[in-house]
Amino acid sequence: MTMRGVNILRTTPLSSFNFNTKPISSNHLTFLFNPQFTISIRHTKRGFCSTRIVAMASPGSAQKSDEEWRAVLSPEQFRILRQKGTEYPGTGEYDKLFQEGVYSCAGCGTPLYKSTTKFNSGCGWPAFFEGLPGAINRHPDPDGRRIEITCAACGGHLGHVFKGEGFPTPTDERHCVNSISLKFKPADS
Ligand SMILES: [Zn+2]
Repeated sequence: MTMRGVNILRTTPLSSFNFNTKPISSNHLTFLFNPQFTISIRHTKRGFCSTRIVAMASPGSAQKSDEEWRAVLSPEQFRILRQKGTEYPGTGEYDKLFQEGVYSCAGCGTPLYKSTTKFNSGCGWPAFFEGLPGAINRHPDPDGRRIEITCAACGGHLGHVFKGEGFPTPTDERHCVNSISLKFKPADS
């Protein structure tokens, strides 16, 4: 496809993308292809020109067999990410962490949550009121009581999302995520 002089070769149909544009400075626009590609376009006197295309994991691109996952994950990561386990409350390394940075999937490295959306729920697991656009899939449990959340890229189990609990957050949603499903990267690193 061609967009303002940017040629993008890929195999996934364009229709699978959600476009979000946001200015990151007076002369830059970043197009987030939800979340497969980030394209930074620099505005010059001659018009728009492409400066950088960063390919990220596309949905399903990080699929592996159980055998392959066992080779790269710890036994506890495998139990939670691939077998939908739950870590014991209050034990996760990120439960009480409120440092600035980004939380990515511990399985495939796709960015999932910004620290600015993390809040202290007091429930014993890291809580976020919002995920990064398109990074997280939702699946109602078979009994309809809870909604499972997974990494959109690799399908790794993150936890569950709850709505309407009354937390004073912009979405009134609580993404209750196992610390072990996440990998935190501080903003200043
Ligand atoms: Zn993942």
